[in-house]
Order: sequence, then structure tokens, then C-alpha cells
Amino acid sequence: MTGRVLLIEDNEANRYLATYLLEHGGFHVSHAPDGPSGIDRASTEPFDIILIDIELPGMDGYAVTAALRGNPALADVPMVAVTSHAMHGDREKALASGCTGYIEKPVNPVTFVREIRDQLGRSGREPR
Ligand code: MN
Repeated sequence: MTGRVLLIEDNEANRYLATYLLEHGGFHVSHAPDGPSGIDRASTEPFDIILIDIELPGMDGYAVTAALRGNPALADVPMVAVTSHAMHGDREKALASGCTGYIEKPVNPVTFVREIRDQLGRSGREPR
């Protein structure tokens, strides 16, 4: 099972863990450390799913997601907020910005890859 993942995350430890889990799950992971570079990569390379940290320097993950959704080429791409925000309303805010799903940090190593596969399955974009 393969799938191309774009991980927009500024924290190196979080990047390392998510990448480790996803690569062991058969995914290919590309990184962007901030919103603008993630938006740039998503406009020039194909991805099956985009994971977006909400607490990013400068442009936050909600704004990044809204910008990604502004690109018609990405209309069908699942976008998942991965965030330590545990406050009431954050899930709604993520979905309102264009995210198709929401995963809370710290990510659960046992369920993380399955959650990503579920997100892909729900979008009809089964990884090839
Ligand atoms: Mn962050």
C-alpha cells in the first residue's frame, strides 16, 4: 500500500514521529515546515492526502487549509488537521476552513496510520 502524503508541520519531533509511522505504513511522506512552502509544494506536486498542523509560524493551519482549498486542483484531496488544540470549537473551525478530518496530538502511534487510511477511504482516494 502506498500513498503520497504532504505533512505541513513546523515541529521536528512531530514530523519525525508522523513520518516514521506513515513510512512504516507504506506511505511516501513529503515535508513542508510552514504554510507558504506547503501551499507551494501542493500546487506543484501530486498528493493523495495533506496533513496540516494548526499551530504554524506566521500563517496558521486554518489559513493554510483555506488557501489550499482555493486551488481547484486540490478540491478532492483530503486535508486533515493535526493539532494539539483541545479547546472546544477547534474541530468545527478546522472543518469550516476546509479540512475533511481532524486528529488530535499527541498522535496515537497505534491508530494514527489507520486514521489516515480511513480519511483516504472516505474521500474515495484509496492509495494505490
Ligand atoms: Mn506547530
